[in-house]
Parts: sequence; structure tokens; C-alpha cells
Amino acid sequence: MNDLQFASFPDAFLRAELTENFYGDGGPKWKSQPTSENAKDERIRRARLFRKHSATYLAEKLGACQPESRCLSGACPECCRATQRFFVRRVYSALTPSSDYSLVSLIPPVSAKVGALDRFSIADFRRDITYRLSESRLSFAFGGIDFSLNEHEDGKFEPHWSPHVWLVVSNFMHARWSVLLPGVFPRTKSVSRPIRIQAWDGKRGALGYALKYSFPRRISYVASRSYRNGVRKCKNTRNDELRSSERFELYSHLDQICIGARVLLSHDERDDTTSMNAIRIWSNLSTSDR
Ligand SMILES: [Zn+2]
Repeated sequence: MNDLQFASFPDAFLRAELTENFYGDGGPKWKSQPTSENAKDERIRRARLFRKHSATYLAEKLGACQPESRCLSGACPECCRATQRFFVRRVYSALTPSSDYSLVSLIPPVSAKVGALDRFSIADFRRDITYRLSESRLSFAFGGIDFSLNEHEDGKFEPHWSPHVWLVVSNFMHARWSVLLPGVFPRTKSVSRPIRIQAWDGKRGALGYALKYSFPRRISYVASRSYRNGVRKCKNTRNDELRSSERFELYSHLDQICIGARVLLSHDERDDTTSMNAIRIWSNLSTSDR
């Protein structure tokens, strides 16, 4: 096992770094990034949702988020969008050339029951992911933790929350880690493709995706496909919106765990190449905008 470690963005750090520029509509830009107006409208909708579920404190917290007095709640779309844009701004310039990196989506066999997300520990999840990635000898990754609610159209498994990760990964020793990943991210009844690896086209949208702040209900189903030799059944998924009670549960949890806890910034002190990259990125964290 190597010495992979992950850092996050502490709240105090974000409070100092998230200037109002990151809440606006200037750079960094990428395709289909929600506008500041979209995020504001969504914040108001979420505050209304909290009020509907009698979570007055959270309703007021989100309701009061405004320029120069930001709430920094993990449930606040405006603060999440600013963090996402900050992350993209700081990390992007260090990830060159883009051909040195791949995009990796990983779903560990870890879940939380619907209605019990408040007992899910993000700290334990970060430790678990770190262990699995270390076991796969993957040395350097940047990205974030995401959530979806997974259910089966025919009730073939219990609906559950599925935390997973989206990473930009160094191609250093790609052949080795891509072979080892399936050993630590196995298929399960509810996840037929726990690992997806693709080349990175160098666009910012892939980095922004790591910290997206809208979350789907993922519905598994069995589809029939026609082939030359007849019809074959195959597993498939489609996305739908979370229900009101599910949104309330997830947003309450996101408020609890804070925005920065979803960020994964790796460094490996024993590996000079990756340490150099980490140093470049960490030094970017304290320099002015590019
Ligand atoms: Zn906010």
C-alpha cells in the first residue's frame, strides 16, 4: 500500500478564499455551468423546502445567504457553486498537459439506508476511499464526493443512498492501477459498473462535475435490446428527480458535513512526481487568481 492521503477545504479556508467573484458569472467558465441566478433561485427553493419540513434553522440559514455574508452551508447552491468554481480555478492550471490525466468515476460498495443518511460518516467514507485507492496503487487524484439515491424499478434491491467519487487521476502507472481497481471496487447487485475510466479532454467542465450540487435518483431497470440473433436483456439506468423528503434528507446531511468535506485533494509524500504536482496545486491555493 502507498501513502496516499487526501486533504479537503476547511471551512475557515473557504471563508477566507471565497470572494464574491466566485459567486458571479465571470471565469472560470464551462459548458452548462448554472448561472448565478440559477443558483440563487435554487437556494430560495431549498430554503422553502427546509421550511416545509419544519427545519426553521436551515431555512433561515439559507434564506440569509447574501453577498459578503455567505452561509457556507453544504446545502446552499450558491456557496456550493462558488466552491466548485474556486476548485476549478485553482486546480485546472496545475493539471497540464491534460493528456497526463484521466477521468475516473468510482462507486464503492458502501451505502446508507434511505432515512438514515444522518448516520453516514463522511470521515469514515474518506478513510475508506483512501484505503481502496491506496490498495489500487493510484497515487494522485483530485475530485469530489457525490451522492445519488439508487433504486430498482422492480424492487430488486433496497433503495439506498450511494456515495461515490469523481476524480481526475494522474496517468502515472495507469496500466497498474486500472488493473487493480476492480479488486477494491467490486460489482454489486445494485452497481453493475462501479468503475468508469475515460480520457480527459482538458475541459473545465469535467473538474466542475466533481463538485456538482444537484443530485439524481438513479433508477435501475432491465431493458430489452434487439440484436441480429434476437432480443437480449441488459441492465440499464435512468435518472429522475429526488422526491421532496429525499431532497430534505440529503440537503440536511450536506449542511452537516460542510462543503469542503466533499473535496478530495491527494498527495503522496513518497512520490516526488506527485508531490511536486501537489505542491504546485497547494501553492496555487494561496496565490492570486489567474
Ligand atoms: Zn450560501
